Amino acid sequence: MLQIPTIKNTIDKFHCTYCGKEFQARITTWIDVSKTPEARLQILQWEFNIVRCPVCGYQTVADSPFFYEDFDVGLLIAVYPSPPINPAAEEVSIRSQYGYYPHIEFFYDLTQLWVLVYWYFYHREYGHPYGMVTSKEKEDIMHKSIRLIKTDVAMLHIGEKLRESFYEPAAYDELLNAVERLICSMEGTCSYGFLTRGT
Ligand SMILES: [Zn+2]
Repeated sequence: MLQIPTIKNTIDKFHCTYCGKEFQARITTWIDVSKTPEARLQILQWEFNIVRCPVCGYQTVADSPFFYEDFDVGLLIAVYPSPPINPAAEEVSIRSQYGYYPHIEFFYDLTQLWVLVYWYFYHREYGHPYGMVTSKEKEDIMHKSIRLIKTDVAMLHIGEKLRESFYEPAAYDELLNAVERLICSMEGTCSYGFLTRGT
């Protein structure tokens, strides 16, 4: 396997939607969460790839694409906060470049990544409902989770609650309930509200 750094950064150009100023900021374009576990928390707390306008101070999540790698499970996800013009061509190009990864996925909405990371912390906290699982079973769980994240209609509601929760703290509880209902629907087990928002 090629040697790939566990974290890659770049300087990108941004346009402040509040005051109109153009500015440059440093963002991450590749992150291996198995080597940089704090990135998972940043994603969960919506602090990953935050850019700040130097003039008015307005902060927002960068819409630049990035790679989310979990080396431990051989997973590479190309994350597009804003969908590219031609997703099919992007997918072909990435698969030809990184085809040696056991699992390659594409997310076109940050909500999908947020739920995947939530899922990770959920399992870390509670273990898996089926107890000890083999690595093959672990892979199957990962694939099922990702498929559900990409297809379940509940994701629309979860995305809505996630955005609302930025300015409406009460929405955060509804968000957790919605995500955990999604997990329950697949795994048939429920443990509510284990994560509370940090201050
Ligand atoms: Zn600004």
